[in-house]
Amino acid sequence: MAQPLFQAPPGTRDLMPPVTDRMRAMVAIFADEATKAGFGQVTPPMFEDVGVFVRIGESTDVVNKELYTFEDKGGRTIALRPEQTASLCRVFVQRRPLTPWKAWYFGANFRYEQAQKGRYRQFDQVGAEVIGSSDPDIDTEIIALAWRFYERIGLTNVTLLLNSLGDAADRGRYTNALRTHFTEHRGSLTEQSRETLDRNPLRVMDSKRQPDQAIIDAAPLLGDFLSDDARTAFDRVQAGLTALAIPFEIAPRLVRGLDYYNRTTFEFVAPGLDAAQNAVGGGGRYDGLVANLGGPDEPGIGFALGIDRTLLACDAEDAMQGPDTTAQVWVVVTAEGIEGLEVADRLRRAGIRADRTESGRSMKAQMKAANKSGAAVAVVIGPDEVRDEQAGIKPLRGQGDQTTVDNQQIVQAVQEFL
Ligand code: AMP
Repeated sequence: MAQPLFQAPPGTRDLMPPVTDRMRAMVAIFADEATKAGFGQVTPPMFEDVGVFVRIGESTDVVNKELYTFEDKGGRTIALRPEQTASLCRVFVQRRPLTPWKAWYFGANFRYEQAQKGRYRQFDQVGAEVIGSSDPDIDTEIIALAWRFYERIGLTNVTLLLNSLGDAADRGRYTNALRTHFTEHRGSLTEQSRETLDRNPLRVMDSKRQPDQAIIDAAPLLGDFLSDDARTAFDRVQAGLTALAIPFEIAPRLVRGLDYYNRTTFEFVAPGLDAAQNAVGGGGRYDGLVANLGGPDEPGIGFALGIDRTLLACDAEDAMQGPDTTAQVWVVVTAEGIEGLEVADRLRRAGIRADRTESGRSMKAQMKAANKSGAAVAVVIGPDEVRDEQAGIKPLRGQGDQTTVDNQQIVQAVQEFL
C-alpha cells in the first residue's frame, strides 16, 4: 500500500475496536464506582488559560517542557490540558460548589512527551477529586475508589505505594536536607538530575535514570521529617486502608512529580509493565493548589488513572475483555423490498445486535457474510416469505435446519438461539 498522504501525529493513536470497546467499558465501571461513592461527573474544557496549568508548578516537566500552548484568534494564550486536577480546581474556584466537593472526570490530556509504548502525547485519564476536607479518612476513601475500580476490571497485579509528604514546613526542612545530600554527590548525578537539583531537589527523587539510583537510595527520608500532625494523619490513613483490607506498601522515597502535593501521596504500579511506564495511576493531597489558583484556602485530594496504560496492564493478565460486539443475528434478504431494513431495525429495538449485508447482493454473498459475521442465526427473507408474510430462521452454527415463522414472530424465534 502506498504511503498515505496524512498520518496520525507522532505520539497519538487511532483507537479502534476492540480497544475502544474495552476503554468504554472501563470508563463505565469507573463512573459506576464513583457514583456509588457520591462523586458527580465534571467535564472541564480541554483547553484553559495557560496560567491555570502554570500554577501546577513551573519546575515540573509537565509545565516546563510538555505543555501544548498556542495563541487563539482573540490573542489569549491557551494550553491544552496536560492533566485535569488543575482544571477542576479552577472549576471549584469559579463555581464555588458546596464543600466537601466530590467530583470525578474522564477525558483526554495532552503532553509533548517522548512517545513510546504506554507514553503518548494524547492519553485518557479517569480521576476523582475531593476539595474542602482535610479528613484523613477521605484520603482512604479516595484510594479505595481507585482500588475498587481495579478490582472490578479484574486487574490483580497492582501494587499501592503509599507515602506522606508532610506539610509545607516539613517539606521545607526535608528539601534543604536533600539539597545538601545531592549537592555533595552532584558530580555523580546525571545531567538532567543536576538541572532538576537547581530547580527543586525534591524532584531528583523522581528520577528513574540508573546512574542516579544509588545516590537516591542513600538520600534522607521524608518520613524522618514529618510533624506530629502529619504523622498522626498518615497513621490514620494506614489504619483506614487496613480496615478496608486494601494492601499497601510504604514507599518512603515516593515523591510525586507535581509540586503541589503534600501529606498523603500514592501511586498504583503494575509490575507487569516496563519499569519506565509501570505507573498506572497516582495521586495525593494538594492542600495549597486551590489557594494558588486564587481561590479560598481549601484542601484537596485526588488521583488520576491512565486508561491507556491500565489497559496495557490488563493485557498482561488477560483482564477487561470488554463487551461482546459481534452481531447476534444476520438478516439475509433476497426480496426487492425494504424488509431487510425493517427486520434489522425491529431486532435492534428489541435489544439484539443485528446486522445485514447491503441491499441487492446475491443470496450466496449474503450467506457468506452471515457465516463470517459470527452471528448465531440468520433471518432469511426471499420473495416467497414476503408474499406469505413469513421469514426463515436459519441456525448458523449447525443447530438444526431452517424453520419458517410468521413475520411477527421473528424476534421471539431468534431469541431461542441467543
Ligand atoms: P500524572 O497525571 O502524571 O500523575 O499521571 C497519572 C497517570 O496517567 C499515570 O500513572 C499514567 O497511567 C497516566 N499517564 C501520564 N502520562 C501519560 C502519557 N504520556 N501517556 C499515557 N499515560 C500517561
